[in-house]
Formats: sequence, C-alpha cells, structure tokens
Amino acid sequence: DDAGVPGRVRVAVRLRPQNSEELVADADFADCVELQSELKRLKLRKNNWESETYEFDEVLTESASQKRVYEVVAKPVVESVLEGYNGTVMAYGQTGTGKTFTLGKLGEDNIAARGIMVRAMEDILSDTSPSIDSVSVSYFQLYMETIQDLLCPGNDNIAIVEDPKSGDVSIPAATVVEIRDQRSFLELLRIGEAHRFAANTKLNTESSRSHAILMVHVKRSIKGRHDSEEGFPVENGQASSLVKSFRPPIVRKSKLVIVDLAGSERIDKSGSEGHTLEEAKSINLSLTALGKCINALAENSAHVPFRDSKLTRLLRDSFGGTARTSLVVTIGPSPRHRGETSSTIMFGQRAM
Ligand code: ADP
Ligand code: MG
Repeated sequence: DDAGVPGRVRVAVRLRPQNSEELVADADFADCVELQSELKRLKLRKNNWESETYEFDEVLTESASQKRVYEVVAKPVVESVLEGYNGTVMAYGQTGTGKTFTLGKLGEDNIAARGIMVRAMEDILSDTSPSIDSVSVSYFQLYMETIQDLLCPGNDNIAIVEDPKSGDVSIPAATVVEIRDQRSFLELLRIGEAHRFAANTKLNTESSRSHAILMVHVKRSIKGRHDSEEGFPVENGQASSLVKSFRPPIVRKSKLVIVDLAGSERIDKSGSEGHTLEEAKSINLSLTALGKCINALAENSAHVPFRDSKLTRLLRDSFGGTARTSLVVTIGPSPRHRGETSSTIMFGQRAM
C-alpha cells in the first residue's frame, strides 16, 4: 500500500446516498454508477449497453461511514503532518454531492457524522508526543481570486506571501487562533461558517462559488536532541558534537490544509452576465489551474504551474514534494447529472 507516499496524489471517490427527491425522480432509472468497492473500481453507465470502468485508490460507497472516509482519505495525511511534513486534503465535485458533509460536518448532536476537519483536529490534539508546542488554525475563503478571513469579518483581500528561499507559503494577515481543545475548535468552525454565510450574502453569492480553506499549523520543538533524525539538520564531525548539548531547541512547523473546493459544475456562461460570468470564469480558472498542477505531479513533470491561480499558489508548499496530498472526488447517484459525474470522475482520474 502506498498510502501517503510523498509527491503522489491519492484519489478516492465517494458516492452520496440517494436523497428523497432522487428516490422519487429517478425511481424508473437504473443508477448512473456502479461501485465495486473491493476492486476499487467504479463503472459509469453511458446507457443500458455501455459502461466505462475506472480505478481509484479507494472507492467509497454510499454506505461508507464518516469514520472510514476519514481513515482512508485523511488519516495518512494527518499522521505525516504530525511527523513534521505539510499535507493537503481536498474535496472536488459538483455542488450537492457531499464535499462539505465529507470535510466540514460538525456532527454536534451525532458524533458518528463528524467530518474530516473535526476528526483531524481530534487526532492532532490527542497526539501524546511531548514535542508538540502549539496547534493553531486559520480559516478563510478564496472567492474570485481574493482571500477573505473567515475568523475576522472585513479582513478581506489579504495577500499570499511566498518565501523565495524556502518556498514556504504564508498568509501573514490572516487571523491565527491557538486551539487547545476540541470544544473551542468546534466553536471556531461555527463562527467561521457564520461569517462565511454573512460574507457571501453581502457579496450576493453562494458558498458553493468559493473555496473554503482551513489551515492547521502544528509547531513542535525538539529539545536537547543528540541524534539525527530524518528531516532534521544533520551535523557531522567533532566540532559539532561539542556544541550539541548547548543547542537551542529545534522548532519545526508543519501544516495541514483542508480545502472544500467550489462546486465543479459547469456554469452556463452563455446565459450568464456580469457578476455570475465573472464568478464562473474565476472558478474555472482556479479549478483548471489545480487540475494542471495535479496532472503535472501525476506525470512527474519538472514544471508544476503553481503560479496560475491563487488557489494553487496557496497550496504550493503543501502539495507534491515531501507533502502528502489526498483528493476525494464526490459524486451523486442521479443519472440526470451523468455529465457532471463523468467530468468529476475524469478530474480524479487525471490525478492518478
Ligand atoms: P456540497 O458541499 O458538495 O455542495 P453537501 O455536503 O452540502 O454538498 O451535501 C448536500 C446534501 O447531501 C446535504 O444535505 C448533506 O447533508 C447530504 N449528504 C452529502 N453526503 C452525504 C452522505 N454521505 N450521507 C448522508 N447525507 C449526505
Ligand atoms: Mg458545500
């Protein structure tokens, strides 16, 4: 199993259960997709006679629990973040297919329903390693190539800063909140969600038109290290061994980025004008840029075009290289959306 192999994007597909509306509307239709979970395959029906089969790293059926989804999609990434590497977990798919359910579900009255953000924080906070100094989070949305702080309304249009030497990406103007327990994290997500709703109402848009991004920063300090460890500076020779015992603690930072992407559905640009057209272009720009970066990583290409959009610029240091990246593509069961389902599956396939 190559779970969490650096530089390669792990791709899972998740099918949302039929909702009551679909149960009625699609009663006479055969399902659009057939999942072979053990074989990690998915069959997309074109019509009654033809179907196409696709393979993924994981195929999550409509009965897959949130716990299982967390374990296959996010846990390896969270574990590597706790070891000091950066990581990204993203959900891609048409609006209504379960991206927010998968990532952002709070499950306040139903623990089993909790999504990836909450479960990831639980694992991070319960890590018993004494070297963890602090865990802090930022939460923002990326809308039409501008970043809005979801923890501080009005803190809009904030800049992405890239360190030309280290390649580290940061958003210094974004609010950072230290998290000590799960309760305060849930409270923060709730506040962020409320601010997101208010911001989008003001902008006269829907949340499905923006990317919601949670960044979890983990800071560790390793005191009095005498031996070298993978990923830490290694010192050789006599001179350095003399100073070893006086060495200040080594601070190591890593981050987990969780991205609830804007809806991938094609917006009919011909019928759109003004605001809606600009939104559509902007979503298209960032998702296309993301797709190109994912393809470049899948093909081991020397050039990954991170610079093409804010979304990909943000992900630059937590995507590829030594970072672990996991993508879950979400689809619905309705044959009425076969076109969108098919293009979502193709997006996932190109990442492999
Ligand atoms: P998206 O964020 O992709 O637009 P949502 O996560 O909001 O989609 O999901 C749309 C609806 O379907 C919500 O009411 C959500 O609770 C429900 N839903 C999505 N996935 C599942 C699932 N696996 N099991 C049960 N309900 C789901
Ligand atoms: Mg959503």
